[in-house]
Amino acid sequence: MTSVADNLKQLLAELPEGVRLVAVSKFHPAGMIAEAYQAGQRIFGESKVQEMTAKYEALPKDIHWHFIGHLQTNKVKYIVPYVALIHGIDSYKLLAEVDKQAAKAGRVVDCLLQIHVAQEETKFGFSPDECREMLAAGAWKSLAHVRLCGLMGMASNTDDVEQIGREFRLLNELFHELKSTSFDGSEAFRELSMGMSHDYHEAIAAGSTLVRVGSKIFGERVYN
Ligand SMILES: *Cc1c(COP(=O)(O)O)cnc(C)c1O
Repeated sequence: MTSVADNLKQLLAELPEGVRLVAVSKFHPAGMIAEAYQAGQRIFGESKVQEMTAKYEALPKDIHWHFIGHLQTNKVKYIVPYVALIHGIDSYKLLAEVDKQAAKAGRVVDCLLQIHVAQEETKFGFSPDECREMLAAGAWKSLAHVRLCGLMGMASNTDDVEQIGREFRLLNELFHELKSTSFDGSEAFRELSMGMSHDYHEAIAAGSTLVRVGSKIFGERVYN
């Protein structure tokens, strides 16, 4: 078995400049995160509020915690005090709740809008049109405690690399469209979070700036 540090090193060597790694540590113990931390990794991704908060409390405070899962509005308050980036904003209501809790915490929280581009029904996110409409409506502009930094998406879970490539390119086109139509080309709108262990090569080829890789670093997850 290769070590977490070796896996990390190999993966980082493959990432071109401008692409950052979110090491997805969900379902893995804090000890494995500490191993990756020792090897220099600082950005970790988690998908459950309670699990991320417990790890935040147990681990060094200079870790950047990215929330990559489906976030329920009633749990926003638990992560807002410390979260570095929320990848999965999939409704205006959720964005408004993050804003409200961030105001209470005296913070501005960075967020990505999750877009549904995969063919599966189960994945969360705005459709491209829903996202265009939400941004065009403009209410988000008065939310002073959130900052929209880009888009996040998942490709279909398939071996068809052509399809995966098409879905990621669609996301990239939407990103550039929205950047000019809704963000005036602002550099604050800069992140395209796409790519996991099995498809990060395709994601990078399609313009990803943040890959979210778990099993390739930490091994298979045991769900229970
Ligand atoms: C679990 C998860 C990942 C990482 O998946 P791997 O296949 O282990 O790399 C990436 N993104 C999201 C949204 C996830 O839930």
